[in-house]
Amino acid sequence: MMEAIALVGCKSPAEEAQYLRILTAAMPAERVVPFRTMGAAEREAARVAIVANPDPADIAALPGLVWVQSLWAGVERLVGAFDRPIPIIRLVDREMARTMAEAVLAWTYYLQRDMPAYARQQRDRVWRPHPYRKPADTTVGLLGLGALGTAAAERLVTAGFRVAGWSRTPKALPGLDMAHGTDGLPAMLGRCDILVCLIPLTPETRGLVNAERLSALKPGAALINFARGPIVVTDDLIAALDRGHLAHAVLDVFDAEPLAADSPLWSHPGVTVLPHISGPTDLDSAAATVAANLEAYRRTGAPPRGVDAARGY
Ligand code: NAP
Repeated sequence: MMEAIALVGCKSPAEEAQYLRILTAAMPAERVVPFRTMGAAEREAARVAIVANPDPADIAALPGLVWVQSLWAGVERLVGAFDRPIPIIRLVDREMARTMAEAVLAWTYYLQRDMPAYARQQRDRVWRPHPYRKPADTTVGLLGLGALGTAAAERLVTAGFRVAGWSRTPKALPGLDMAHGTDGLPAMLGRCDILVCLIPLTPETRGLVNAERLSALKPGAALINFARGPIVVTDDLIAALDRGHLAHAVLDVFDAEPLAADSPLWSHPGVTVLPHISGPTDLDSAAATVAANLEAYRRTGAPPRGVDAARGY
């Protein structure tokens, strides 16, 4: 019999039961077993772990692991967390990209159509139309043109927005004004009416969106952070909003989650707080992606391509 696949890091028994049901249905030939119920021999034999938010000690207790499949796209907490280098496969899933692209378009419209201002006006019983700004006159800048950024860019281009993109390495994408590297960032920021953050959290991107970069945005610009909280320096963001340089920020991710009850972001009039919902993992689709990875591994014996530990994504 084939060795079991370890399921590690579920946050509750209900979540564990749901993951087991969906993963087992997607790969009936495999035996997925919660780490906590595995005996010593099963732990010894495990070659693959599927992880949500694993305790590194549990991974250390699986000495024969060849690769780790994350159920999340962002793996900054896994890179370098284990007692030995193990290939980490992050979730690259078409349904997640579609959901994230939809969120980027929805919140871009929210900003482009001045919904934060109208919500404030309604509270104050103010009847004041603002001039309409066409998508073609609105530049949306995307930090990160990976699986999610590319899907978001396509939706924005189709909706008629002007789209600028920024990546680490040079890239050409149809309909996009692309820049790359630290040198390419200031000019790109200077064109943005709306800046969307979709880069991974790495040592290079931590604190990237700071006072200097926020100041480089057009006056009255807005920010959407759907990536990870520490990429944006919260105090610098609040200062940019308070001095009116930035009109609004839509934040789905924070330095610590859930956002602390005493965070000034909750009540800031220029901030929309979302509870990390922009690109949820669709379990059915994720399970199909994981099943395809496992099928290829069983066929070839080679693990799927993992994240690059040196660059952090
Ligand atoms: P990805 O496919 O790895 O793409 C990452 C992109 O960021 C690439 O274009 C990469 O440039 C660029 N990048 C990385 N480091 C950079 C740097 N130092 N300077 C400039 N560009 C840099 O990642 P993805 O699947 O699109 O996901 C992006 C992030 O979204 C995840 O890491 C995760 O944190 C976040 N996320 C959030 C949610 C949510 O619900 N809020 C859900 C899913 C994911 P190259 O193209 O040159 O490599």
